[in-house]
Amino acid sequence: MKVIIAGAGLGGLTAGLALRRAGFDVNVYEAAPMLGEVGAGLTLSRGAQAAFRALGIQDRVAKFACRSASLPFMHYRSGAVLAGAYDNSDGLPDDGTADVARQIHRADLHSVLALTFAEHGPAVVTGHNLNAVAQDSAQVIARFANGASVTGGVLIGADGVRSVVREAVIASDKPRFTGQLAYRFLVPAARAEPFMGAGRSGVYIGPRRTFNRYTLRGGAVVNCVGIVSSNTWTDEGWSTPAGTEEIQKAFSGWHKDVLGLIGEAEAAIKWGLFDRAPLPSWTNGRITLLGDAAHAMLPFLGMGAAMSIEDGMILARAFVVEREPEAALARYEAARLPRTALVHAKSVEQGKRTQARYPDRYNGSAAPAADPAILGYDPVIAPI
Ligand SMILES: Cc1cc2nc3c(=O)[nH]c(=O)nc-3n(C[C@H](O)[C@H](O)[C@H](O)COP(=O)(O)OP(=O)(O)OC[C@H]3O[C@@H](n4cnc5c(N)ncnc54)[C@H](O)[C@@H]3O)c2cc1C
Repeated sequence: MKVIIAGAGLGGLTAGLALRRAGFDVNVYEAAPMLGEVGAGLTLSRGAQAAFRALGIQDRVAKFACRSASLPFMHYRSGAVLAGAYDNSDGLPDDGTADVARQIHRADLHSVLALTFAEHGPAVVTGHNLNAVAQDSAQVIARFANGASVTGGVLIGADGVRSVVREAVIASDKPRFTGQLAYRFLVPAARAEPFMGAGRSGVYIGPRRTFNRYTLRGGAVVNCVGIVSSNTWTDEGWSTPAGTEEIQKAFSGWHKDVLGLIGEAEAAIKWGLFDRAPLPSWTNGRITLLGDAAHAMLPFLGMGAAMSIEDGMILARAFVVEREPEAALARYEAARLPRTALVHAKSVEQGKRTQARYPDRYNGSAAPAADPAILGYDPVIAPI
């Protein structure tokens, strides 16, 4: 059976690779004219890395990733550690075998996935912006803005938070602006050093704001993300520039290390945070959704990318168990709906806890970031 995937993000590529490994004929169609170097840091949960081990790419991923085992939470003014403790090996690369969270530049992970996908069959087909889908009891047709169309047995909409597939066949809702704005910038490690006394990974928490920083690329660069409440609507894309003064103003009065890092900011961008209300179902016949298209969520647990990777793994497993397309998609959805709804809700809760009025009261052991139900999920062995 031929599988069509719309969208070559982390979710679409993981699903494509896992399905190819399971023997399926898969093609991935991407709207962008080429696969490029975009984005910055993201967190790889232990479950996402379990998927990479099963797909035989964890050693490639580990070459670009840095450990993030401890992740202390610190007070926004005093810098006092409120939860967790700094681990000396955090922020450093390793061989990827330890069962810990890691952090990686999105572009590095994306290139590992795209290259490995192409080693097992045709490469991603770029410049194909899907704009219509149709299906009957035997097949699915995907149509693209460039006039091309393809036919297959199933179609996976892995086309991100503004999913065309979702709007066409699943739900006509729009992504919601959550009233929060994220700033992201990079600082070369040598220039960041004076401000990293509290360890190479960690989150400062304060009223209505958080500031997270961790190292990427073998420890060469520090990825910083500040999230603030804002009524200003900002595009959710990944390329709107942000000025240093604007970020300094947003974090005025915060710990000197936060302000020091902001003072060294390079390539700062900003984007509005959008999410989706959880759906009661995201499958329609031979068409389903995956990743942000199905369940975009807030970044406070750093689980958005991991959810799309878990989805890809479970989707491929469902097709191994059920060869009939509708049955496979139903099995995939049944396994993923409760998991993603839980992580969606817990991400909201984590955001409230880390942006609370009195950060001194942050109870690390009760927070979702320490919840084994979230952190312990393994998509390779989870029941489906
Ligand atoms: C350019 C970019 C940069 C990002 N940078 C970061 C980052 O630095 N840190 C972070 O935590 N998260 C980042 N994200 C978000 C993060 O990758 C996702 O939240 C998460 O990985 C879920 O992945 P996904 O595959 O569901 O969606 P995405 O990663 O958003 O991928 C969706 C893909 O579908 C493609 N697409 C969209 N519409 C169509 C269409 N009609 N036809 C064909 N293809 C289509 C998009 O171009 C994209 O490649 C970024 C996303 C993008 C698209």
